[in-house]
Amino acid sequence: MGESYSLPSTRASRRGVREWLAEASDAFVSVFFPAGCRICDELLTRASRVPFCEECLSSFRAPSVEKCEVCGQALEFEWMSSGEGEPLVCRACQQKTYAFDRARSYGIYDGPLVRAILLLKWERMEPLGTWFAQRLAELARTEIALLAADVVVPVPLHRERERERGYNQAGLISKPLARELRLPHKAVLLVRTRPRPNKQILSLEERWESVRGAFATRSGSQVDNKRVLLVDDVMTTGATVDACARALLASGAKSVLALTVARAARNPLPAPDSGNL
Ligand SMILES: [Zn+2]
Ligand SMILES: [Zn+2]
Repeated sequence: MGESYSLPSTRASRRGVREWLAEASDAFVSVFFPAGCRICDELLTRASRVPFCEECLSSFRAPSVEKCEVCGQALEFEWMSSGEGEPLVCRACQQKTYAFDRARSYGIYDGPLVRAILLLKWERMEPLGTWFAQRLAELARTEIALLAADVVVPVPLHRERERERGYNQAGLISKPLARELRLPHKAVLLVRTRPRPNKQILSLEERWESVRGAFATRSGSQVDNKRVLLVDDVMTTGATVDACARALLASGAKSVLALTVARAARNPLPAPDSGNL
């Protein structure tokens, strides 16, 4: 807790009552909310379930721009499909890159949102997982196709990684999201059978290669004909969510939707010579 506040004497009267009141009020707030915003260090001036200031919170949401109907990527002008009345899809989705039906994200993976996701990931900030889940539930309710799900599933970590960390950060979001949407939550339906490579992944091809076939449904899990809502913290290239979707569909899932808190701003495609991606 910070230092105790004592009534100012001559110094304060010199500076005037108004200034003193402002200072006293800050001191009052800092007694009740002794920590600053965990993103920008600004003193928190109101109670919140998450330790972020208003300015940081309001910077999270993605600007509303034209998005790819399938993967939700913000569309750049040259990527738009030209057909009148046809849905807008990005270049990757024109090439049917992804096995999932639709993916959407709450914000762009940039600035304060990166910091917030790191706090969720490394500090197990559960109220933040719930807060993100509420935002994703709001997002799903604005787009009816996102509600076509029977079960909510987090993108899994490899079990060694999860044991190391003690939790799966995607689960910190998917569990409260399932509660919000009144759907069953299945944390162990999908497993990561191959861990992430230890080496730094440099190229896009390596990134796709590292997750291809890295997921499977747990034997005996009931996925047949289910519409699955996959949840993760960040979607970068979409390779991970795609690999999960392929594993689920191969086990008989009817369809896969994906919701992530954040989306990388750019989604470069693998080089044309990289095969069937
Ligand atoms: Zn802040
Ligand atoms: Zn797309």
